[in-house]
Amino acid sequence: MTYERYFEEKVSDLKTEGRYRTFATLSRQCGNLPKATYYGENGTSRDVTIWCSNDYLGMGQNETVLKAMKEAIDKFGAGAGGTRNISGTQKLHKDLEESLADLHKKEAALTFSSGYVANEGALSTIIRLLNNPIVFSDELNHASMIHGMKSAKCEKKIFRHNDIEHLEELLNEAPANAFKIIAFESVYSMEGDIAPIKEICDLADKYNAFTYLDEVHAVGLYGPRGGGIAERDDLLDRIDIIEGTFGKAYGVMGGFITGKASIIDAIRSYASGFIFTTALPPAVLAGCLASVEHLKTSESERDIAHENASYMKQKMKDAELPMLEGESHIAPLIVGSATCCKTLTDILLKEHNIYVQPINYPTVPRGTERMRLTATAAHTKKDIDILIDVLSNLYKQHSVLDQVSSV
Ligand SMILES: *Cc1c(COP(=O)(O)O)cnc(C)c1O
Repeated sequence: MTYERYFEEKVSDLKTEGRYRTFATLSRQCGNLPKATYYGENGTSRDVTIWCSNDYLGMGQNETVLKAMKEAIDKFGAGAGGTRNISGTQKLHKDLEESLADLHKKEAALTFSSGYVANEGALSTIIRLLNNPIVFSDELNHASMIHGMKSAKCEKKIFRHNDIEHLEELLNEAPANAFKIIAFESVYSMEGDIAPIKEICDLADKYNAFTYLDEVHAVGLYGPRGGGIAERDDLLDRIDIIEGTFGKAYGVMGGFITGKASIIDAIRSYASGFIFTTALPPAVLAGCLASVEHLKTSESERDIAHENASYMKQKMKDAELPMLEGESHIAPLIVGSATCCKTLTDILLKEHNIYVQPINYPTVPRGTERMRLTATAAHTKKDIDILIDVLSNLYKQHSVLDQVSSV
C-alpha cells in the first residue's frame, strides 16, 4: 500500500460515518456582524448570518479594540521579533498581564499563543513539577486539558460531568498525603451548563487539592468586570489557577492563566509551550488589552448578549425544540445523528442563509450530535425570530424529534 492510499482510507472512514469536517469559507463583515460573506462551491458568494460564533460580545468589531490594534501596528510593527525570553517580551505583555491579574484579583498572569497552548502548557507543567500527582478531571473537559494531562505523567481519575458526589468518592479513595489536582471548566460549551464551582472548592479544601479552572467560555461575559463565573459567584480567591482565552468573548486571540506569583513564575520557567515559541505580536496584545479593559467597565455588551441568549432559549422552549437546558448563554440543540445533523445544517445554509456548524463525535458522544447555537450581542431579536421559525419547521419536516426521543 502506498502511503497516500493509507491516508485516503482514513479520511474515507470519516466520510462513511458522516463526520468528515468541511469548513465553511467566510469573510466576516466588520461593522455588520453577525453577517458574513459565504463562498459557495462554484465561485458564488452571498451573505449569511452566523449562529455558531464564539465572538459572543461582538468585540471583534469593537471600535476601541480596532483602533488599539491599528495604532500598535503603526507604532511597533508587525511581529514580536522573538520568544518571550529572547527579545520578544513587549511592554504590552507586561501591561496585559497586569490587567489580567487585576481582572481575577490574582498576584500574577501569563499569556500564551492560545487558550489551547495555555491549558496544555500550564497543566502539564503543574503535573510535572508536582511529580506524579493524582488529577481529578471532569469527563467533559476540553481536549487541550486532556492533552496537558496526557503529556505529563499522572494518575488520572475521571469524575462524571459536574457530579460532586462522584468527585468526592474518588477524592476519598485517594491516599490522603498524595498531591491532588481538580481540573474543570466553568461553562461547558457543548452542554451549555455551568459547574458547581463552590461545591468543588469546598471539596478541594476538605481534601487539600489544587484547583485548575478553565473559564474560556465565561471570561468577558460573566461577572461584573468580565472575570468569569468565579467572579460572578465571588469565588476568585478559592481557585489556584484560572485559565482563559482572548479568542472568544474578547474577540481577538491568545490565551492566559492567572494565579499566585510563585506558581505563575514556575510555569513561566518550565512550560515548553510557553518558552520555545514566538511571543504574541503587538497588535494582538494591544487588541486584547483594549478588550479586557473595555469589558471591565462596560456592561452594555454583556447585557445585550445575555438578553438575546435568554430570548432565544425561551423561544426554543416555546417551539418545543430539544434544547439542552443549561444555565449559560449557549443553546445546544440535539439532533442525534451525524448524517441528519449535516443534512439540517446544509439546508439551513443553502435555503435560509443561516450558518450553523454541525457538532459531531469526538467533540460530543455519538448519538448526541447537535447544533450549538449562540445568540451574540451582534444579533437582533428579529434574527432570532427568523432562526427559530426556520428550525421548528425543519424539525417537523425531517421528523428529527422522533429520532431524538429514540436516542
Ligand atoms: C476553545 C477552548 C479552549 C482553547 O482556547 P483557544 O484560545 O481557542 O485555543 C480551551 N478550553 C475550552 C473549554 C475551549 O472551548
